[in-house]
Amino acid sequence: MTIDSETLKSLVQAAAERVIASAPELTTLDQAIGDGDHGANMKRGFEAVLGKLDAIGTLPTGDALKTIGKTLVMTVGGASGPLYGSFFMAAGDAIGQGKQLPEDLAEVMSRGVDAVCARGRATRGEKTMLDVLFPVLETLQAHAGEPDLIERVRLAASAGVESTTPMQATKGRASFLGARSIGHRDPGAQSSCVLVHSVCNTLEVLQ
Ligand code: ADP
Ligand code: MG
Repeated sequence: MTIDSETLKSLVQAAAERVIASAPELTTLDQAIGDGDHGANMKRGFEAVLGKLDAIGTLPTGDALKTIGKTLVMTVGGASGPLYGSFFMAAGDAIGQGKQLPEDLAEVMSRGVDAVCARGRATRGEKTMLDVLFPVLETLQAHAGEPDLIERVRLAASAGVESTTPMQATKGRASFLGARSIGHRDPGAQSSCVLVHSVCNTLEVLQ
């Protein structure tokens, strides 16, 4: 399959709708170890993305991803806005520099994950969205082209979000709680999992 503008539009629309629908759950998770705004932040950001969907559909893929990134930076707020924004802007830059989808998906994802690490001064194991993004990246790197890639990616995202529960947060607001952050799923890991699962589900239908 190819990722043409219609495919990208379907992927973006479905992902935005899933994130918006999961806002109450993201709120509950962020109430436990943060300030309770992650659901509202993500809902606001992805409603703004949906508002630009037609424009996004007319752009080359790299520019479309950069537009999504800029929109998220401007509208999500909190820690997660600049982090998700950096992810999509770096992924868009990678495509602008000649990487192609779906062939170079692992490389494009890698550029996005690197940007989140740089922006958040964070790495895996700190109870953040990176505990979903890294395992997904590794799955793409290890299993590209295999018939069960989508299912593997979905499982990696689910396992990643579950892995945050026993972790103590060392980045972001949850780190203020110290050991009391242990025993809760990370809200940003959950929103990343929702996004990854939505992309997987849409690709499966389009395949
Ligand atoms: P805020 O923490 O400013 O209220 P949000 O609630 O929208 O922002 O987002 C919180 C999520 O952002 C966390 O659950 C975590 O996954 C992610 N996060 C916070 N700080 C960092 C960081 N430095 N690096 C990576 N992810 C982070
Ligand atoms: Mg918050």
